Amino acid sequence: MRESGTVEETSRPAARLDIVIVGAGFAGLYMLHRARALGLSVRVFEAAGDVGGTWYWNRYPGARCDVESMEYSYQFDEALQQEWRWSERFATQPEILRYANHVADRFDLRKDIQFDTRVVGATYDEPMWRVRTDKGEEVSAQFLVMATGCLSCANRPEIKGLDSFAGPVYHTGEWPHEEPDFAGKRVGVIGTGSSAIQSIPILAERARMLTVFQRTANYTVPAKNAPLDPDFVARIKADYPAFRARNSLQINAFGSNLPRSSIPARELSPAERRAALEARWEYGGLFFLGAFGDLLLDQAANDEAAEFVRERIRGSVKDPGVARLLSPGQIIGCKRLCVDTGYYATFNRPNVRLVDISASGIDEITPQGVRVNGASHELDALVFATGFDAMTGTLLRIDIRGRDGKTLQDAWRAGPRTYLGLSVAGFPNLFLITGPGSPSVLTNMIVSIEQHVNWIADCIAYLGQHGRATIEAQPAAQEAWVEHVGAVADRTLYPMCNSWYVGANIPGKTRVFMPLLGFPPYVEKCDEVAAKGYEGFECR
Ligand SMILES: Cc1cc2nc3c(=O)[nH]c(=O)nc-3n(C[C@H](O)[C@H](O)[C@H](O)COP(=O)(O)OP(=O)(O)OC[C@H]3O[C@@H](n4cnc5c(N)ncnc54)[C@H](O)[C@@H]3O)c2cc1C
Repeated sequence: MRESGTVEETSRPAARLDIVIVGAGFAGLYMLHRARALGLSVRVFEAAGDVGGTWYWNRYPGARCDVESMEYSYQFDEALQQEWRWSERFATQPEILRYANHVADRFDLRKDIQFDTRVVGATYDEPMWRVRTDKGEEVSAQFLVMATGCLSCANRPEIKGLDSFAGPVYHTGEWPHEEPDFAGKRVGVIGTGSSAIQSIPILAERARMLTVFQRTANYTVPAKNAPLDPDFVARIKADYPAFRARNSLQINAFGSNLPRSSIPARELSPAERRAALEARWEYGGLFFLGAFGDLLLDQAANDEAAEFVRERIRGSVKDPGVARLLSPGQIIGCKRLCVDTGYYATFNRPNVRLVDISASGIDEITPQGVRVNGASHELDALVFATGFDAMTGTLLRIDIRGRDGKTLQDAWRAGPRTYLGLSVAGFPNLFLITGPGSPSVLTNMIVSIEQHVNWIADCIAYLGQHGRATIEAQPAAQEAWVEHVGAVADRTLYPMCNSWYVGANIPGKTRVFMPLLGFPPYVEKCDEVAAKGYEGFECR
């Protein structure tokens, strides 16, 4: 664990570096490791007090990953993946954070990371980036890598009267280090996305009364979490690289061992379709969406899977009115599918109440609680489980200025525009890790992170070897890429929901489907671009 030393750090003289990395989550940590191996001088700035990113901030009860632990980890170092032991099928936040700390210690990464320091601005002053922090410090660097995360900007909706609330207010994405004591308290949860669905069953056990304010019901499938079977672990570890390689060939870069079907629903009999859905439900986890090959392509196939889940909700929730409210109507999977342990059954508890805010929203927050449709719900504590300004929020909060002073905000006014999700025209030597326009949030993100970091590190090495100082996306290549990302999405049901994938959870955000579906063809394209001497980029 690190020792605090920010006073000393902030009095460092302005530095001239090869590379600045913003963020010390899984992306920033690995980028730092690769940058060092290239012999580059490097500094990482991290707003948090320690490493881990998502897993540093999201300490809410029940937080865990829903990609299986044996896959949700780095693959760049065989010894690392052999030595680390996960305890459960889906790892908890504390365990993932321990893993991030282990990696930081094992590769001695902390000494180049400046914690408790937020980057507030970066200006391209040819040929260097000038990077400014909230500590008033400025450093310059040839390359700037944004490892700032896709889900790192907490969304706090503006609700009338919020500041007047007399009790504590929490956000799942910025959970305090000291666990709040909810015993004997009346707790309100605003939001019913993934973080809410993970935390509500546990909060219900801790609080005297739990009131859940729901705007949109979401689909969730049971995790069927369990301790990891040592035989399964041994089989994977016997040839971890081959397991990783098979996973990288999956559309979402995970789950080669999971029951995914390529058969379209219409080619199955009703009994076979039913059996396919039941088997995935029993298996647990995100691979419910793999029941049919066309579940996210064909409306009828999707309708059948959605109705199956609604039937399960009716089977779990005793009060038919509550079951109806909890039943989503939208396409299943086009909003991020959630994975839970005991979510629906929690609503059978006498201390849990569901309040529908779909029609009228919340009137206001008062010192005593939340008012909906004129009715007061008295609360002692309030939890916002309202997610994130995903994919672009964190980047757009930084004053990033490229060539001729053009801001990223201006460049992305009509939605994010990138080449390969890695680079932005007009912003030379700026790299985004898992940026919009790359598979990112539709994949096992650690796999996507490693692929991006490797590509960026190789690119920087290439520039050095070829005596080039800058690389910049060509506008035409970027336009073609933006079109491609949209066209891929339009062949699916994904863009049809008001999801955070399209920015619909943030008022005023331009609606564009931001991630790219399909990991293997994407990797092929990135490799091809590099092999052709960085086709679509200008290298000078
Ligand atoms: C609750 C939750 C569950 C998830 N579960 C899964 C899962 O099961 N599978 C999966 O693949 N993915 C999951 N994710 C996505 C997860 O974000 C990624 O898997 C991964 O951890 C991202 O790593 P990262 O380093 O790219 O970004 P992050 O972990 O978000 O790290 C970014 C870091 O950058 C820092 N930062 C941002 N802006 C600045 C700034 N201006 N100055 C300084 N520092 C800054 C932040 O403080 C943060 O520490 C989940 C996300 C959440 C929120």
